[in-house]
Amino acid sequence: MTSYDFDLFVIGAGSGGVRAGRLAAELGAKVAIAEEYRVGGTCVIRGCVPKKLLVYGSRYAGAFADARNFGWSCDDLRFDWPTLIGNVRREVDRLNEVYTRTLEKAGVELLLTRAVLEDKNTVRVANSDTPIRAKTVLIATGGHPMVPKLPGAEHFITSNECFQLEQLPESIVIAGAGYIGMEFASIFAGLGVKVTVLHRGDQILRNFDADLRDGLAEAMDKRGIAIRINTDIARIEKEAGGFRVHCKNGDSVQVGLVLAATGRLPNTMTVGLQNAGVELGWNGHIVVDEFSRSSVENIYAVGDVTDRVNLTPVAIHEATAFAETVFNDMATPVDHAMIPTAVFSDPEIGTVGLSEEAAREMGHVVDIYKIAFRPLKYTVAGRDEKMLMKLVVDMESDKVLGCHVLGPDAAEIVQMAAIALKMGATKAQFDATMALHPSAGEELVTLRHKWEAPTPMAGSDAAA
Ligand SMILES: Cc1cc2nc3c(=O)[nH]c(=O)nc-3n(C[C@H](O)[C@H](O)[C@H](O)COP(=O)(O)OP(=O)(O)OC[C@H]3O[C@@H](n4cnc5c(N)ncnc54)[C@H](O)[C@@H]3O)c2cc1C
Repeated sequence: MTSYDFDLFVIGAGSGGVRAGRLAAELGAKVAIAEEYRVGGTCVIRGCVPKKLLVYGSRYAGAFADARNFGWSCDDLRFDWPTLIGNVRREVDRLNEVYTRTLEKAGVELLLTRAVLEDKNTVRVANSDTPIRAKTVLIATGGHPMVPKLPGAEHFITSNECFQLEQLPESIVIAGAGYIGMEFASIFAGLGVKVTVLHRGDQILRNFDADLRDGLAEAMDKRGIAIRINTDIARIEKEAGGFRVHCKNGDSVQVGLVLAATGRLPNTMTVGLQNAGVELGWNGHIVVDEFSRSSVENIYAVGDVTDRVNLTPVAIHEATAFAETVFNDMATPVDHAMIPTAVFSDPEIGTVGLSEEAAREMGHVVDIYKIAFRPLKYTVAGRDEKMLMKLVVDMESDKVLGCHVLGPDAAEIVQMAAIALKMGATKAQFDATMALHPSAGEELVTLRHKWEAPTPMAGSDAAA
């Protein structure tokens, strides 16, 4: 009979790996986990958590400005980056310890080293000649930032390095307008950095609802963030005091720092997957079934490395389902429908379900309910900024297919709306829900009138 050193070997101690390793151990499995950088992975070390703390830090600028009309004097304001980033790093260190202790407490053997597959049951870790045999292997190696290939690409920093900056630049170019680009644009702008976003597409935030994309682009523009769409970078040159970013259209921008926020790729190239015959998809992700099983029967994969929906709660959910399926004898498929998500830009976005465009593309005939209004707080603060709320409703079934919010606390509002959408709530049920007043969220249950596209004026192109 084949003997194994471990029932489960997990490669990668990020959101997915830590959850799967801990649960499997709690269910009685003998588990080892290898981590080549820091326990906690992207989310804790250089993603969601430190990013959100920087978001909080950057939003004080707006809060101080709003405070004046509420009677507060906020003179002599100063911002100190080393204080903020130092405190963020301390919190990351604390969480790193919490995650490490969690694994230890569950009895998981932690190997702080790189691990590579030699075959489907054998793992080799750096600094050891002894191969490790495991019955089941879980790949939870996450992803890494992709940097565009162009002359001077070595001058790019990525989101990883944003958390290592010792000082803030006076100006920055951000290449890419996905959610990470938009979040860092807002963080840097809030902290007083002059931000230019260069984006090759025709609007920010591809795949989000068009009203959210247009609304956020307009709000960021009002806040002085220059967003140049249809603009591709040709090359980057180092010059005294910074860099010159040359665009393909002949323009150039001089800045202190250049950040690539142009997408992420799965970490599959250096894990030895080819030695085990694991099938990879078009962008190098591990192809898995609904139980996160790869093409090799004892090798599973969860999280960003599978490139399904690259978010922390999804990685955790997939890991939980994996542990239930393999170690608790309860086949648990993962349902990827109705995943709420946020863009922690300023203003922020919360969204769940289908965009209007996606709903129509899928063949739904939809009613649109939407409202743009000035939140109560901004009336006294004197802020010229609107909040947007939108529901996409299936005309036939009355089900709410999508809920989209742009403005303060959008993420918090949409997290709750996501429960209703997941349960298949109808517009009539939204309407039957009592409003909580005065709040912004109450607008979602008081949207009475269907939105109709403005009638084109006689003689205009659209009327033709
Ligand atoms: C800047 C940024 C902001 C984000 N913000 C959000 C957000 O607000 N909300 C949200 O839900 N998601 C956010 N995400 C996405 C989220 O961080 C990821 O979806 C999540 O961390 C994925 O978890 P994972 O377990 O798949 O991988 P990871 O957390 O990336 O963990 C993978 C781990 O594997 C390790 N590893 C890789 N190869 C090996 C090897 N061969 N041997 C040993 N160890 C290895 C890595 O060092 C890493 O620690 C953000 C991501 C970024 C980059």
